Amino acid sequence: MYDFESTVATYCRAFPADFATARGSLLTDASGQTYLDFLAGCGSLNYGHNEPRLSAALVDYIQSGGLAMSLDLHTAAKERFCETFRDVILEPRGMTHRMMFCGPTGTNAVESAIKIARKATGRRNVIAFTNGFHGCTAGALALTGSSHHRGQGNPITSDVTRLPYEGYQSLGFDTADYIEALLDDPSGGIDAPAAFVVEVIQGEGGLNAASGRWLRRIEAIARKHGALLIVDDIQAGCGRSGSFFSFEDMSVSPDIVLLAKSLSGYGLPMAMVLLKPEFDALSPGEHNGTFRGNCHAFVTGAAALDLFWRDGSFSEELAEKSAQLTGTLNRIAASYGLTRKGRGFMQGLAFPDPADALTARARCYDAGLIVECCGPEDEVLKLLPPLTATAQELTIACTIIEEAVRTTLTSQFDEVA
Ligand SMILES: *Cc1c(COP(=O)(O)O)cnc(C)c1O
Repeated sequence: MYDFESTVATYCRAFPADFATARGSLLTDASGQTYLDFLAGCGSLNYGHNEPRLSAALVDYIQSGGLAMSLDLHTAAKERFCETFRDVILEPRGMTHRMMFCGPTGTNAVESAIKIARKATGRRNVIAFTNGFHGCTAGALALTGSSHHRGQGNPITSDVTRLPYEGYQSLGFDTADYIEALLDDPSGGIDAPAAFVVEVIQGEGGLNAASGRWLRRIEAIARKHGALLIVDDIQAGCGRSGSFFSFEDMSVSPDIVLLAKSLSGYGLPMAMVLLKPEFDALSPGEHNGTFRGNCHAFVTGAAALDLFWRDGSFSEELAEKSAQLTGTLNRIAASYGLTRKGRGFMQGLAFPDPADALTARARCYDAGLIVECCGPEDEVLKLLPPLTATAQELTIACTIIEEAVRTTLTSQFDEVA
């Protein structure tokens, strides 16, 4: 049936079931088998599949004749989203950022951000980090570390300087010191940067989590050198890190913040660039696109903010469940010689031998749990549960993972013996 589909498709190879329906953390395939979905659209389904109150808001909007497509015209849906995002997210955090609606994918937001930073500073060079992942269009790809994604034969690397993320390869020095020294040195060979683009938790790059201290250093270096600080919160944002933005409580103030994946709350495509007013540098239409402002995504996005972020109870629940996940993964890591990585609802287990991570992923799938691998060698088994996953679902998933880890590492031991 899929003979005509391109070889580029990827997730369906690791998880080949034919999925029919979904609700919350659960997927059901055509034969009626259920799976716990701890991939959750790579973090695009922070509130689970088909959250019934979001479904209802969308169905109401469609049945009442609301616009589906509006370019960037003003609509009731857009107005309500902007008002809700301002009231629930920006103002309580003292943020004055403007909302720029770009094309509907994360990579569109990245392209917009680097275009803005280059225009605002009159500079070309952008600093990106080892193991960063920022998307698959040309500009975003140049920022991405992975040679697999950049294309081994003909990588796109123009006007980007890549520098080491915090703790890179455990080399034993403070990479912020190194970065500062390079930039301070007129012979360091780095052209004055327009921006630093950084993930606070590297989603695809192996769940490396930056400390507040390192991020503040990067911010200070950016300020000293007249560069913008751009936080790519496409995966770690919308609550996945444990708070709405990944950098909350770190005392940094990014000039630009990028959101996509879970912004619509429903798996509908939607991306947004948040930018400080002084960097709102593009003139009308200078960055364009047909699908900017997906009305259906505005509707579910606003409803999700109302439901989950208007008061603090969801964040509190998230903190408890994150602690549960951390505790269990720490225990499994200690028992089997693995390393726990990440934080919040993006945590995982790094395997010394990357092949074992892929074997464990396959065993999890056989046991009804969908989890992906990430990291430069796919060595990290990565959990991205819906934030709405219950404590019981987390327990079941961790039991499956522990069993998968045990059988993977034990059967290998048997082979050696
Ligand atoms: C997924 C992702 C992107 C790209 O988003 P797309 O919607 O796939 O274009 C960019 N940055 C990060 C951190 C991501 O996780």
